[in-house]
Amino acid sequence: MTLPRKTYNIAVLPGDGIGVEVTHAALELLQALGPRLNCSFHCTPYPAGAQHYLDSGQALPDTTLDACRKADAILFGAMGLPHVRGADGTEIIPQLDIRFALDLYAGVRPIRTWPGLPTPLSDPRAQHIDLVLVRESTEGLFYARGRGRLEGQGAEACVYDTQKISHAGTARVCNFAFELARQRKASGRRGHVTNVDKANVFMSMAFWRQVFEERAKHYPDISTDNAYVDAMALNLVMRPWQCDVLVTENMFGDILSDLIAALVGGMGMAPSADIGDHHAVFQPAHGTAPDIAGRGIANPSAMLLSTAMMLDWLAVRHADPALADGARAIEAALAGAFLQGGVRPYDFGGTSNTADITRAVLERL
Ligand code: ATP
Repeated sequence: MTLPRKTYNIAVLPGDGIGVEVTHAALELLQALGPRLNCSFHCTPYPAGAQHYLDSGQALPDTTLDACRKADAILFGAMGLPHVRGADGTEIIPQLDIRFALDLYAGVRPIRTWPGLPTPLSDPRAQHIDLVLVRESTEGLFYARGRGRLEGQGAEACVYDTQKISHAGTARVCNFAFELARQRKASGRRGHVTNVDKANVFMSMAFWRQVFEERAKHYPDISTDNAYVDAMALNLVMRPWQCDVLVTENMFGDILSDLIAALVGGMGMAPSADIGDHHAVFQPAHGTAPDIAGRGIANPSAMLLSTAMMLDWLAVRHADPALADGARAIEAALAGAFLQGGVRPYDFGGTSNTADITRAVLERL
């Protein structure tokens, strides 16, 4: 028996609701892929989430965060339950805490249509949607989380949440988007970055645009344009097939992430990665879906595609191209399951449950 070339240590945070169910699917996938890629994935689960907060008083224990810092990569299910809230009335959201704690500034949300699955848009060009949203994830309006300020009382009360846009924070996420566009151009895509802001109204956004345009000068091979977020919301529904890479601040990115997921059928098909210079978390863009949790019908595709993103990231970091081959194998297996395998997830009106979809992917690897 040959020993694996390399062992990758993966910190696994399944979390709450369907986070646990889709994480199980991803772990089965990694277990099956390891021998095929001649490596081993040492996956260790750690507690965190809303249920853990109820049980222990801690949503993201320091021990879990330390393990994340030491791991080669972090695989994350979903966290938060609507009835579990902190003293200020907001939900327990450790996925935000981890982005700030590990400085994961680039939220990468790729979206594409999958032949074999229906799309909500009837225009035939919707079959060619293939875009990536890059969301700044450590500043913007989310910087106000935990820093909100209440002034006055009763009818006089007023609450302020302040947005932060820094030069360094904007420049690094714009660089990330340009590098991504370069990679996409090298793989035959357009290689174009659209900056999404609200520079016509807010000083912070005019500053963001100025930094974007400064950074664009360093990437003359990449074409660019600017869009206001309201117009972008319209264009994403009218002409999403024209988009390649979008970059935007945290709050706009939060909202547009869900919009682009809807273009290809919903949250079940929307993977994501939150990437910093030293760490990265890979998790589906969806939440814990309390409405379907515990029924075994969650679509694991977003999680399996997030696992593929993890392999791509590890492939570059560890100069291990076999992992990128693994990522392509996951995508091809999923595509085959939809196109030839007759797999149709519940969120697409079908009857394939989490286990059916996972099995169909594993059979095709
Ligand atoms: P969050 O606030 O964490 O983003 P949310 O409650 O707003 O979470 P989701 O949990 O993502 O949103 O769920 C939104 C809708 O999409 C729900 O109807 C849910 O059932 C559905 N959904 C989300 N993920 C999946 C999935 N993997 N498979 C099937 N349906 C899903």
